[in-house]
Parts: sequence; structure tokens; C-alpha cells
Amino acid sequence: MNIRMPWQAMLALFVGLPLWMGCGESRAGGTPQSAGKAAPNWEVYFSPKGGCTEAVVRALEKAKTSVLVQAYSFTSAPIAKALVDAARRGVKVEVLLDKSQRTEKYSSGDFVAHEGIPTRIDAAHTIAHNKVMVIDGATVLTGSFNFTKAAEEHNAENLLVIRDPVLSEKYAANWKVHAAHSEPYSGK
Ligand SMILES: [Zn+2]
Repeated sequence: MNIRMPWQAMLALFVGLPLWMGCGESRAGGTPQSAGKAAPNWEVYFSPKGGCTEAVVRALEKAKTSVLVQAYSFTSAPIAKALVDAARRGVKVEVLLDKSQRTEKYSSGDFVAHEGIPTRIDAAHTIAHNKVMVIDGATVLTGSFNFTKAAEEHNAENLLVIRDPVLSEKYAANWKVHAAHSEPYSGK
């Protein structure tokens, strides 16, 4: 049997559907894509201007006990402020930075160090390229997204927010490996 569809319907099926399912960066406010109908345990965001910074800040605002940070480049004022706010609420915040943050112009690493957040430099590698946060031992934020203004506004990046205690434990264990060979940093 020959089923005939108007060409507009065909177009909607083959072009419209993928567009409709398309990515967060085109949506105002960075609506996350998520895994399915019932309480997904992850969100994903895409830069530029896809809500990565807001997602990090929201996650930090919800932090209750601990935040472990690994950052390569760190210049995002809203993220630095959210870390300091969390520390002031009594959340145990600790930051590891790449050695480039020693020589970079005033960075958010300096800001958080000056605000009293325990901050260390991991100089044991060619680059310490991780961009990770482990929040309350239950949520991991990671991806290519550096905690920077440029990553939010100009770069093509991705950020995953994964609520998973087992995965969080893996990332926290790796954070500790790097913390053990890192040096305290008091800012410049
Ligand atoms: Zn290391």
C-alpha cells in the first residue's frame, strides 16, 4: 500500500524532529537536556552561553558539606563567589589548581585563596587539566568546561552534572591523589 504524506509532514519528520530534540545552547537560560522521563541523574550543558556557569553556581548553592575542586584555568567570578559563599555557610571547600595559575594575571584562584579557602597548586604534571567538582560526595561536575568567562561566552565546551555517589567516590579518590602532591597556594 502506498502511503502518501504531504511534503511538509515529511520535512517535519526528517528535519524538524532532530531540531526539536536539539541542544541546550539554543535555549534561553540553558535548559538542560536530560536522560529521560523519570528523575534523570544527569544534566548536560553546552557552551557558549548554554548555562554551564549557572549550572555550576546552582550546584554550589545546594552544597551542604563538601566541595572538592580541580581547575585548570579559573577566572569565573560567579563560580569563585559561589565557592566562597559555600565556604561561609560552613561547607568544606578545597581547591586544586594547575601551576599556570601562579603566573596568570590575577585569577579566581587568588580570590578564593585570599578568602581563606584551602587552595593548592598541582605542579606534578605537564598540565593539570582536570575540570572537576565533587559536591557532598554525591554529585560530580566535569567536562571540557573550564571555570572561566571565556569558556562560558566564547568557547565550544560541555559540562556534565552527574548525581552518583559511586562515581563521586572515584573522583574524590583521584582528587586526593593529586592533593597529596600539591603545594599550598596563598594567592598573589
Ligand atoms: Zn597531580
